[in-house]
Amino acid sequence: MPRRRRQDKDVEPGERMAASEPAEPGLRGPLGPSTTAVHGGEPRPKPAHSLATPIVQTATYSFANTQELIDHFEGKIDRVEYGRYGNPTQRIAEAKLAALEGADDCLLFASGMAAMTTALFAILSRGTHVVVTDDSYRRTRQFLNQTVSRFGIEVSTVPAGDYDALEDAIRPTTRALVSESPTNPYNRIMDLARFAEIGRRHRVKTVIDGTFATPYNQRPLEFGIDLVMHSATKFLGGHNDLLAGAVLGSRELVDGIRSLQAVSGAVVDPFAAYLLVRGLKTFALRMERQNANAQAVAEFLAGHPRVEAVHYAGLPSHPQHEIAKKQMRGYGGVVSFEVRGDLAAASRVVDACRIPYIASSLGGVESLIEQPAIMSFYELTTEERLAIGIKDSLIRYSVGIEDADDLIADLAQALDKAFA
Ligand SMILES: *Cc1c(COP(=O)(O)O)cnc(C)c1O
Repeated sequence: MPRRRRQDKDVEPGERMAASEPAEPGLRGPLGPSTTAVHGGEPRPKPAHSLATPIVQTATYSFANTQELIDHFEGKIDRVEYGRYGNPTQRIAEAKLAALEGADDCLLFASGMAAMTTALFAILSRGTHVVVTDDSYRRTRQFLNQTVSRFGIEVSTVPAGDYDALEDAIRPTTRALVSESPTNPYNRIMDLARFAEIGRRHRVKTVIDGTFATPYNQRPLEFGIDLVMHSATKFLGGHNDLLAGAVLGSRELVDGIRSLQAVSGAVVDPFAAYLLVRGLKTFALRMERQNANAQAVAEFLAGHPRVEAVHYAGLPSHPQHEIAKKQMRGYGGVVSFEVRGDLAAASRVVDACRIPYIASSLGGVESLIEQPAIMSFYELTTEERLAIGIKDSLIRYSVGIEDADDLIADLAQALDKAFA
């Protein structure tokens, strides 16, 4: 089982990769997000003097003798034991993410949903209660309402942005307030300081799914949020080639979740952890470009006669633009918009785009486009979708790192073609 974190004992730099705990970063001190993305969490030098972080592709780890095993269980030495309890490549990815988020600790999972479900199971227990905002990630709400609720845990759903309803929903048994910011697909913004303050006043843990913002654009822990969760599949990985999830927060909170992960087993694969470290090298560059591209695309769409509405927090017309400006560096790479037309008209726009792929997911270097009514909510009727605010004419565009002019020209021709 995972041991308590060892106090900074003497370890040869080359041995760092053998440590079961996050490696000491090679660089220290307050560094900017670009430097942190490149160097954060990585030991210097690395094993075999490799410049790249090695993939420790193993399921288990050998012990020299029985005494070493006993020393490990006594917590006298710091080392890895078995793949479900951690992996050195994973630890480096975690240390890099913790540095980016300004968190004490980070734990990686096999997917974003593995991170969210394990974290919630660790916080909640029979007889407790959880409050979730109504436009939190659909699978998170589904997990709470359909799975967690079967275990004697009560779930309340409140409208996002209604802070009185949020506070009114809190009971003596409430253990967690869960929300997303910005939200999918409408980019609604939660006032993080206010959300954290309500949680603190009622001694309830606050959990923010920050996938859409990433720590480049928003660092919820600085506003007093207890736990941040990310689907690392999205912007953090950034290349549409891995699945992973992360939870970040205090050592105490993350340790509790780590203990459950050691049992429940939704661990990240060493290769996915390597891809994450590799993808994060360009994290700040990608985010800068995606923020700028998305802003340009949103502004173009806002001025287009075939577009009914654009949902992007970087537009002054966005209802929470002022809150977003206070708590975010940039507004992210996802732009949602409604065309002036029906389900079929929106499908024609999607089909006429040449640059973005039609695909689920978001945050990667390639632009992706989808119509939520068809992609994520296909099994619902138009009426059921409308009841949860998903319009047939809505399109979600995950803006990649291509040239903004090309993306805009492509959207312009697609809108012309769809409405010809
Ligand atoms: C994708 C996503 C998740 C789930 O992450 P997976 O890696 O797909 O499991 C959770 N929250 C948000 C906001 C997401 O976009």
